[in-house]
Amino acid sequence: MSQAGGRVPLIAGNWKMNLDHLQAIGLVQKLSWSLKDVKHDFGAVEVAVFPPFTDLRSVQTLVAADKLALRLGAQDVSPNQTGAFTGDVAASFLKKLEVEHVLVGHSERRHGHGEGSDLIARKARAVHAADMIPMICVGETADDLSEHGAASVPLQQLTEVLADLPAGAEFVVAYEPVWAIGSGEAASPEQAEDVCGKLRARISELRGEADADRTRILYGGSVTSLNVAGFLRQANIDGALVGGASLDATEFSRIVQFKKHVTGA
Ligand code: PEP
Repeated sequence: MSQAGGRVPLIAGNWKMNLDHLQAIGLVQKLSWSLKDVKHDFGAVEVAVFPPFTDLRSVQTLVAADKLALRLGAQDVSPNQTGAFTGDVAASFLKKLEVEHVLVGHSERRHGHGEGSDLIARKARAVHAADMIPMICVGETADDLSEHGAASVPLQQLTEVLADLPAGAEFVVAYEPVWAIGSGEAASPEQAEDVCGKLRARISELRGEADADRTRILYGGSVTSLNVAGFLRQANIDGALVGGASLDATEFSRIVQFKKHVTGA
C-alpha cells in the first residue's frame, strides 16, 4: 500500500542530542534485528534515522555491514560550502557519509537557535546542491495557533523556504506543531490532515500539481505506536517524524509497522 500519488510512506526518527556513537550502534542493531524478525519491507515503508553528527559514521558503517535498507539523515547543516565556519558541518561532508535527508527548520533550531527563514532557505538550498533531500520542518506555536489558527504559520514558513529552492528539487515537508513536540499531546489526525492538505495545495500553487503529488508530507509531534496509524490513514499524511519514541528500538519498530495497526493484521 502506498499513499495517494504513489508516495511511499516514510518513518523518520529524529534522535536529537541523544545517544553517543556506541549507544547509536546498540540502538541500530536492535532496530535491525527487530525489523528483520518481522521481515519488514523497506520498499513499502521507508525508514530513516537522524542521529547526532558524531554518530553518523558509526551508523553508516553498521548499515552497510548489515546490508540494512535504513536511510540516514542529519539533523542540521551549514548553508556554506567550506571554509572558516568553526563548528559547522558542510552538506558535502554529509553526502560523503551517505546521508540522504537533512532536517532544516526544526523548531528546536528556529526557537532555540534563532534560525529564521532566510537561513533555513539557504540550508535547504545547500542540501539540494549536494544532491540530498531537505526535510523542511514547519509548525505553529501554541500562541500562533490561538492567534492565527493552525495552518497560517506553517504555510508561510513553507512558502519562504520554497522561494529559494530550485524548480524540480525534491524535498520532504514535516508538519510539526511546536506545542505537540515532546509534550505527549499530539494533534488529532483530522487537525493534522487539515494542515497537511493545505500545505500540499500550497506546493501545487507554487510548483505545480506533479510536484505536489509526489512530495511526501509527514506529521511530527508526540507520535507513538498507539497513535501513528490514525495519522497514516489520512490522505495527505505520508509518514511520521518521530522524536522521543525513536530512541526505543522496540517502540520505533512498532511505529514502522503501522500498517499492522491499520489493517489489524
Ligand atoms: C521531533 O523532535 O521532531 C519530534 C516530533 O519530537 P517528539 O516525537 O518527541 O514529539
